[in-house]
Amino acid sequence: MSFDQLNAELQARKEQSLYRQRRILQSPQSPEVIVDGKACLAFCSNDYLGLANHPDVITALKKGADSFGVGGGASHLVNGHSQAHHALEEELAEFTGRPRALLFSTGYMANIGAVNALLDKRDAVFQDRVNHASLLDAGLLSGARFQRFLHNDSENLATRLKRTEARRKLVVCDGVFSMDGDLAELPDICQTAADHNAWVMVDDAHGIGCIGKQGRGTVDHFDLGGDQVQVLMGTLGKAFGTSGAFVAGSEELIETLIQHARTYIYTTSMSPAIAEATRASLKLVQQDEWRREKLQHLITRFQKGCAQLGVPLMESPTPIQPIMVGEADRAMAISAALEAKGIFIGAIRPPTVPQGEARLRVTLSAAHTDEQLDRLLDALSDVMTQIKQREDA
Ligand SMILES: *Cc1c(COP(=O)(O)O)cnc(C)c1O
Repeated sequence: MSFDQLNAELQARKEQSLYRQRRILQSPQSPEVIVDGKACLAFCSNDYLGLANHPDVITALKKGADSFGVGGGASHLVNGHSQAHHALEEELAEFTGRPRALLFSTGYMANIGAVNALLDKRDAVFQDRVNHASLLDAGLLSGARFQRFLHNDSENLATRLKRTEARRKLVVCDGVFSMDGDLAELPDICQTAADHNAWVMVDDAHGIGCIGKQGRGTVDHFDLGGDQVQVLMGTLGKAFGTSGAFVAGSEELIETLIQHARTYIYTTSMSPAIAEATRASLKLVQQDEWRREKLQHLITRFQKGCAQLGVPLMESPTPIQPIMVGEADRAMAISAALEAKGIFIGAIRPPTVPQGEARLRVTLSAAHTDEQLDRLLDALSDVMTQIKQREDA
């Protein structure tokens, strides 16, 4: 069998400005990075608190390797569940105010594992239409009746819940929507779910560490707890600056995941050294209130700057500050022009976002300085004028 078909598909993707390419990062995560041999100022990392390259986290990783080695060696249920993993789980349970927490190797796996351990074809899953791909995949894979409700629309959710008969109903959403930056309207969503006897699962990949008391996330921000959000998922590769993820919840939930979550059972545990590094970053997340204050300051400064320049931002209170652009080729042109000025921002295109809603996903980090933010605003001002002139011509 030849690869002509694949070649044709790849070619078509290129022509639609949808071809994806990787860049080679030659430095640690930081505002100033080296990408493909060039120094640039990056606004596209999810390292929101600047912990991915923090000296305490690096030291904990090294010490962790000295004490527990590098490899997990086996799955958690065989002999890969190290003391480092166990301690981190206990600390994450306490941090999230839940009886238990369970570590997964990635957020993608946590979502697939949790939804599939809870639901099968007798059940129904309700997803916000802009939920992260891993949640959508998790729902589809489960075989449960799959419905998407309008973004943050609990009336639409209620209509769907009302007309669905199922053994179990699970409502699933991002805490902070990953490509838009807005928060889930959790009080309404949780009330609607409770009215219809449904559980709620929140994926707080972008909220945990950044919002709520001591960075406890979106659920805490709304003063909700385990009675309203029965399944809480958080990732460790974003604000925590390491890698992996966890699900937190009741004793019964976590025991069910240990018995049935296939992405937990049939995979090697994360490196115990990473677990130790994450314990150090959890301390910083809780202690360093100034990182969240700094982020808030940068968000406000960026929003004011964009308003002055007439750059259209999506409405978002979080470090995800997308500039709505429209067509994929336009997003690529702006991203390339910014790059020529030494600024690195990813263009987000379909199918990650809906057709016609391509955007530049600006992300801010507590590690950015005011001066760096102003360099971004200056470059945006130039590039947006340039692009507009080109389009008007
Ligand atoms: C990044 C992300 C994930 C996946 O987490 P990984 O640990 O990177 O696999 C899941 N959900 C959301 C909302 C995310 O943004």
